[in-house]
Amino acid sequence: MKSQALQQLQLEADLREAIKNQEFQLYYQPIIDLKTNQIAGFEALVRWISPQRGFVSPGEFIPVSEESGLIIPLGEWILLEGCRQLAIWHQKYCQNPPFMLSINLSTRQFSQVNLIECVDQILTETGVDRNCIKLEITESAIMDDVDEAIALLERLKALGIKLSMDDFGTGYSSLSYWHRFPIDTLKVDQSFVRRMDDSQPNTEIVKTIIMLGHNLNMDLVAEGIEAEGNVQTLKNLNCEYGQGYFFSKPLPVTALEDLLNRTLYQS
Ligand code: C2E
Ligand code: MG
Ligand code: MG
Repeated sequence: MKSQALQQLQLEADLREAIKNQEFQLYYQPIIDLKTNQIAGFEALVRWISPQRGFVSPGEFIPVSEESGLIIPLGEWILLEGCRQLAIWHQKYCQNPPFMLSINLSTRQFSQVNLIECVDQILTETGVDRNCIKLEITESAIMDDVDEAIALLERLKALGIKLSMDDFGTGYSSLSYWHRFPIDTLKVDQSFVRRMDDSQPNTEIVKTIIMLGHNLNMDLVAEGIEAEGNVQTLKNLNCEYGQGYFFSKPLPVTALEDLLNRTLYQS
């Protein structure tokens, strides 16, 4: 336990340095419109490329950055960088409708006192089309105090942005107040999507989540699509969007632009 605690402390110290030295990069994973098979937008996913540690996965450093509070400066950088990049892509690629960008907001950021002012300032500073920014939150962010969470979500929506519920189906939020959340999109967790073709009950769960979302006027993104069979099943279930390795892994800017140039010029 002692050595594990020391490792955590070292990771925290390295993270602090990494923020100062700007060792982070955003990767972007395409989100596909399942009706048109076109790229509708992306999810920004942070990567830490450390000179000492090499490539560190977000599953390892995001929890430590949340515990230490470092997610606040890191999260601000992620938001700024994502908005800046989307504004550039909007100028470069005149898509109709324009590309959307989903950016993850950690539970700790959600309870940050100046969250609204911070998001508003970044949106203004980058001049990005606010309608095209979607913040992804998880059920754990809204569990503690539902009324307070709804008020905060409404203030975020009032900024002109969109909201998405990530990893839906894995948390503990009660269905009884779901109709009160001003959420635009539900992301069906990859654990359901990936097991869909293995068994009928998993397909039924995905079908039920899609129906719930539609009844609440939300659109749906299925995460973790790895097989072609999943795509057809999701299309039959009227799921609007899909994301997963089957379409593309998260890519750095240059590789993503190569992909856009190839696919956009083909259509
Ligand atoms: P998430 O937000 O649910 O992101 C989706 C994760 O699933 C990403 O992992 C993505 O690379 C992975 N993924 C996408 N398609 C597939 C697939 O077909 N198969 C498999 N096996 N995986 C797939 P990643 O990038 O390692 O991120 C893991 C988690 O770390 C994210 O889950 C999110 O909770 C957190 N995270 C990543 N980037 C950020 C960020 O910028 N800010 C915050 N607050 N959290 C982040
Ligand atoms: Mg996400
Ligand atoms: Mg997710």
